[in-house]
Amino acid sequence: MNAHPDLAIADIANKFDAMHWQVLDKAHLTAEDLTTVVRPLSAHQEIATTLLGHSYEGTPIIRYSLGSGPLTILAWTQMHGDEPTATAAVLDWLHILLNSEPVGLPKNWQDLVTVHVIPMLNPDGAARKTRVNAQGIDINRDAKALQSPEGRILDQQVKQLAPDVAFNLHDQNPYYTAGTSTNPATIAFLAPAYHEDKHVNASRLRAKQLIAGMAGTLNYFIPNSIGRYDDTYSFRSFGDNIAASGASTILIESGAAFDDPHRQLARKMNVIALQYGLLSLLTDTYRAYSLADYYRIPDNREDGLCDTKLSHITLGLNPSYHVDISINISAKTGKSNITAIGDLRTVHGFSDIDGRGLTLADIKPYVVTSPLQLDDLAYRKLLAQGVSYFVDANGLLTHTCQLPIRVETAPLPQVFMLPGERAFFLLKNDNGVQAAVLEGKWITLNP
Ligand SMILES: [Zn+2]
Repeated sequence: MNAHPDLAIADIANKFDAMHWQVLDKAHLTAEDLTTVVRPLSAHQEIATTLLGHSYEGTPIIRYSLGSGPLTILAWTQMHGDEPTATAAVLDWLHILLNSEPVGLPKNWQDLVTVHVIPMLNPDGAARKTRVNAQGIDINRDAKALQSPEGRILDQQVKQLAPDVAFNLHDQNPYYTAGTSTNPATIAFLAPAYHEDKHVNASRLRAKQLIAGMAGTLNYFIPNSIGRYDDTYSFRSFGDNIAASGASTILIESGAAFDDPHRQLARKMNVIALQYGLLSLLTDTYRAYSLADYYRIPDNREDGLCDTKLSHITLGLNPSYHVDISINISAKTGKSNITAIGDLRTVHGFSDIDGRGLTLADIKPYVVTSPLQLDDLAYRKLLAQGVSYFVDANGLLTHTCQLPIRVETAPLPQVFMLPGERAFFLLKNDNGVQAAVLEGKWITLNP
């Protein structure tokens, strides 16, 4: 890709490529994963490290601060434990700011601004890979009740620091698209409302201008892959409450991209967005953007994508009918879920299969009555014969299959092709079974 026309943005993009923490290129991050990165950060003389308190289970929650200027920026990440992308990004950002001289920043920028970063506000949830904390509380619905220690820490920080600009950094599910496009929304932005009526005061206007500038900048790297998050007022959420405190509050949701399971593209976009924010606040360039520029960002559209989409599958007999089928696969459990059946022309699949000419095969279990050892080859043969799952009441089946295999202790009911069911089925034509969908994954049987 050619360099971004703005030298400062080209510079931060290049520096990310050269300097991001490779060790954080993972699908998930826990407090333990950060240790090798935060140790040199704490040791850096320009960084002030503050122990803010502890999570419910006693893990330290630390703030890293850089600069001593009057303009105050506060960013926090992973308040939802299973949303790690921005945690890597803020640590990359601090690393780049500390160990290079980014283009475009005034020489004395650290006298003009103080940047506070709280990476991983919810380490207990991160350890469990859950959205909620160890109490089962969604910290982002605890802004009023403040029953979680993590929520109290964030609330206390906002009161103490009174940030001018607050970055609330999250991950969103991979199925959002940028408007009606077929692209995943790799980044979504929101300047949250601070009132039911969604008024725009000076601080919210600044948030929207900053977002418009960020979106314009990122659009160069991820064209048509940026969404604008719904701004319905959320009374119990931190972003909305912090917006009410007078901070220009910016929600960034990291999202999916094609062939990017660790969301490294969103990670890089976070770093560029943060640096854009810093640059434009120090140079006032965000003021060139209008509310109209903000609203020009397409909607962050929910459920525009699914993991696997099969189109034009024939179902039923006399009369038969045609449907599309969408399937999602849980990143956490690996289990599939049929999400919809019918006319899904507005939904796109990360994996998109045209099933024209294929008919759903009758469901047929293989009842295991004597010891059976299966490898993929033997399993494929059974699939081709129309076996879609195994009934093994006595634990007689052992296997070395790489392909997903469904083993039940009793036969399934005949009606299994419904939303909410796991996706294990076979597709046939006049020449027999042609393909299998196994735990949502498309497998061709007769190439
Ligand atoms: Zn979240």
